[in-house]
Amino acid sequence: MWAILAAAGSGDRLGADRPKAFVRFGDQPLLGESLGRLDASDWVDAIVVAAPPGWEEPSILLAEELGCSKVSSCVTGGATRGESVRLALAEVSEDAAVVLVHDAARPLVDDAVIERVLTALNEGWDGAVPALPVPDTVKRVEGERVVETLDREELRVVQTPQAFVADVLRRALSGSEPLSPWTDCSAAVEATGGRVKVVEGDLRLQKITDPIDLERVAALV
Ligand code: C5P
Repeated sequence: MWAILAAAGSGDRLGADRPKAFVRFGDQPLLGESLGRLDASDWVDAIVVAAPPGWEEPSILLAEELGCSKVSSCVTGGATRGESVRLALAEVSEDAAVVLVHDAARPLVDDAVIERVLTALNEGWDGAVPALPVPDTVKRVEGERVVETLDREELRVVQTPQAFVADVLRRALSGSEPLSPWTDCSAAVEATGGRVKVVEGDLRLQKITDPIDLERVAALV
């Protein structure tokens, strides 16, 4: 199994002087937490990192410093998350059976959730995503006006790591035209007819977006 670590985002909403993957998380750059965890996982054979433009060298140095021997390559990320994953996927071995795609913005990945998404693939699904119920009421809006209140029982908040049969993901992200503005890989797989299973997510996998998330997630370590 190969893992792709999407770490090429700018993290503008954090307001830091560096890309999100390199803001401080505990005593290391944020990228180090998920990288170390994926490298230590018995499920993961090799890792491709999509780094922010100009931060490829620091990403490789960080992997070396942490002794992450499974990092196979580090690519320069693209303009969108989908493009970053597509560029990283090009470096995944043809022999890979399964590709796990994870956001560096979700540092606290662990083996339990990796096992849940992989089990779904063993059951015959094309892909699997961890998800949580929606605790709030969700409304669709147009400008300032509420136009619809959605039934939250039917909704899920979706996280990473997401696992896919390698060929299915390759097909979903193939072509040279820009990808739709999908915010996860599952959307691309769904759009090409793939069957994706929802498995139990993890509250600790929340994504770091705003400065307050950094403190909140660091407190969960
Ligand atoms: O921007 P957002 O927080 O939704 O990004 C989710 C993940 O995708 C982050 O880990 C980020 O580094 C990554 N990303 C990327 N390439 C981009 C944009 C985001 O790898 N161009």
